[in-house]
Amino acid sequence: RIAYVNGRYVAHADASVHIEDRGYQFADGVYEVCEVARGFIVDMPRHLGRLNRSLSELSIDWPVTQAVLPLILREVVRRNHVVDGLVYVQVTRGVASRDFVFPAPGTRSALVVTARKADPAAAVKRAETGIKVITVPENRWDRVDIKSTGLLPNVLAKQKAKEAGAQEAWFVDTDGMVTEGGSSNAWIVTRDGALVTRPAEHGILRGITRTTLFDVAAKLGLTIEERKFSVTEAKAAREAFISSATTIAMPIVAIDGAPVANGHPGSVTLSLRQAFFDVAEKSPA
Ligand code: PMP
Repeated sequence: RIAYVNGRYVAHADASVHIEDRGYQFADGVYEVCEVARGFIVDMPRHLGRLNRSLSELSIDWPVTQAVLPLILREVVRRNHVVDGLVYVQVTRGVASRDFVFPAPGTRSALVVTARKADPAAAVKRAETGIKVITVPENRWDRVDIKSTGLLPNVLAKQKAKEAGAQEAWFVDTDGMVTEGGSSNAWIVTRDGALVTRPAEHGILRGITRTTLFDVAAKLGLTIEERKFSVTEAKAAREAFISSATTIAMPIVAIDGAPVANGHPGSVTLSLRQAFFDVAEKSPA
């Protein structure tokens, strides 16, 4: 495997960053994950647009010109022979002697790009089975709209899910409303067949898959209600699912051990999943 690290393509096994990288010391960095499917990078412009927003919210400089990054993504995908899988981009505020305040102007931000293969057959199987989620109290800061590498609450929540035999954890705010998953957005389907997902202004990451699923829903003639929903409503819903670049729309069959509907993946979720690739923007790798 090959990784891109600050201007060089290096063997993945030897790829490393300096101990004074601010990503390592303070999680002072941001990232993106794009799906690679059938030789295309999925929704790359939207992902790079969100990267630009994350960087600007944190006043981190672009490590390379915005025009060059797509070329680096393609090159890393190509060099790793990834046809189906993902490409990961991380930008940190760079390397500087440890100090909380921003480093001196002129300190170069740091860029790492990696790519990894995934088995599309395994994803199909997962979607046929569905996943289980647990709920955990929301304990993150109020800027989760920034895709920061500071993911400790997400790590702990997803580990707790794993130990409970589940695949995702849903954060729940003090009003009992679901915010989002540890690494995904949260959705339900009402008895009327409408899609419900939390507004992206506050308390969640504006998922790229979430945005593209709005387009998919429009194409399929499905209604979207962008509003908060409670754990109670989710448990009584017709369907529930998560969305992310690597899972697309993934059916949930149980919440906190209780089955959702009949405990099988829902047809609306599966139709969204089916239509997704056609609707998404595809950049040849
Ligand atoms: N919320 C969180 C906390 C995430 O980590 C992710 C995955 N990056 C998402 C939502 C889904 O975002 P996307 O569809 O852009 O992958």
